[in-house]
Amino acid sequence: MTQKTYKLGRLSTVLFITFISVCTSLLITSIVFYFCQDMAISKIGMFAAIVTPLVVAPFPSWYLMGLLMKVSALEKEMRLLASLDSLTGLLNRRAFFNDAEVLLHYAVREQISVSVVGLDLDKFKTINDTYGHSAGDLALKHFTAALKGSCRQSDLIGRLGGEEFALFLPNTSVEEAYTLTQRLHKTLSQSSIKVQDTAIQYTVSIGLLSLVPTRADTIETLLQHVDSSLYQAKNSGRNRTVVYGS
Ligand code: GH3
Ligand code: MG
Ligand code: MG
Repeated sequence: MTQKTYKLGRLSTVLFITFISVCTSLLITSIVFYFCQDMAISKIGMFAAIVTPLVVAPFPSWYLMGLLMKVSALEKEMRLLASLDSLTGLLNRRAFFNDAEVLLHYAVREQISVSVVGLDLDKFKTINDTYGHSAGDLALKHFTAALKGSCRQSDLIGRLGGEEFALFLPNTSVEEAYTLTQRLHKTLSQSSIKVQDTAIQYTVSIGLLSLVPTRADTIETLLQHVDSSLYQAKNSGRNRTVVYGS
């Protein structure tokens, strides 16, 4: 039925429903006149005027409302799916930037500290090359679970691409954020993923920036600073957190 409605188009559907309503109205009025010949014409008219829309209106409006609600639910679902990364279920790059921008504006207005964290899995290509792409995917999901376990409900977690992730931690000092990243390093060192009876371990390098933001700060520039710390973490042996400006 939905397919037919779409095929007909909006104008044709409305004309079709109107046509059906007029036909039904004519039919009901004829029936009323036929059975109520002894009633006064005005009373019959009033009766038909009330009964006809009562009979005709609910069916198309019930159906159309159902259709509208279905479309609106699908739109909501599509919007949600468009903002999530399909492998990990985390925010994708675009959604992370959008949401982080909103939280950043709030932090600027309220003058509260925020922390921005960039994370890149170490030697990830080696996991793919040695154990296969699906083992890499498993590591990405495992890392997602570790991130969720370390973050608060109000923190933003995004997968910016490949094996690169980012966190936006509202109302979080450098000490709190550093504690979080240390906990994450520890969690990874104490856990492993199983691929064909082999336990694989991996590590992560992290760049961290904490600040009370000003109007001049944007997520892009903050992440650039974070990237420079992440680069230092990679160059100084990996599996560590480097705090920007320290
Ligand atoms: P480094 O420690 O310097 O970061 O080295 P790396 O090997 O982690 O970095 P590199 O950029 O050389 O490799 C990233 C790899 O991540 C290459 C790419 O095949 C892999 N990758 C990206 N996206 C996915 C994915 O969705 N699944 C899997 N399994 N691998 C992915
Ligand atoms: Mg990378
Ligand atoms: Mg990497």
